[in-house]
Amino acid sequence: MAQKNGIDGRKKPNLLITGTPGTGKTTTASALAEAAQLRHINIGDLVKEKNLHNGWDEQFECYIINEDLVCDELEDMMEEGGNIVDHHGCDFFPERWFDRVVVLQTENSLLYDRLATRGYTGSKLSNNIECEIFQVLLEEAKESYQEEIVVALRSDSIDDLNNNVSTLSDWLRSWNMS
Ligand code: ADP
Repeated sequence: MAQKNGIDGRKKPNLLITGTPGTGKTTTASALAEAAQLRHINIGDLVKEKNLHNGWDEQFECYIINEDLVCDELEDMMEEGGNIVDHHGCDFFPERWFDRVVVLQTENSLLYDRLATRGYTGSKLSNNIECEIFQVLLEEAKESYQEEIVVALRSDSIDDLNNNVSTLSDWLRSWNMS
């Protein structure tokens, strides 16, 4: 069971939504933030906005995140609580920050179509599909956090999306009452 009133005594919970790119993290996190009136933090956007990176990686076509700068930027907000953090990695955040870690998962052919629509091709596309097949993010989450706070949720359809938002809203509400 997730510890009540936060590992650091915060008044509101912090939730991490992770998963392979394209599984629906941003869509889920923004819908949930609106439903639960919590703050949505998209790490990719934050990194770009505040220049929390060490340049552009030509091979992987993404910014090289400066993890220390990201953690420094977030510390006060995480201490306060009430955050939904959305990122495709989870191993560099302090474990104490999160009360629950959600790993979204999508069936391979659906994920392939979503990423192709996003313009991913070649190794960028195949690397992400492999990442999903080998459940890299679920393993990373289980290695980085206590297993009982890690939950895997399917994100194949709009029904899944709505169910996930509703399940997570219920959980957030029950945390607030405890
Ligand atoms: P991520 O943040 O994990 O990269 P996004 O939230 O940007 O993923 O979603 C990628 C695409 O898939 C978007 O076009 C979004 O509308 C769609 N999508 C996300 N979740 C679902 C879902 N559960 N069912 C159907 N489409 C989805």
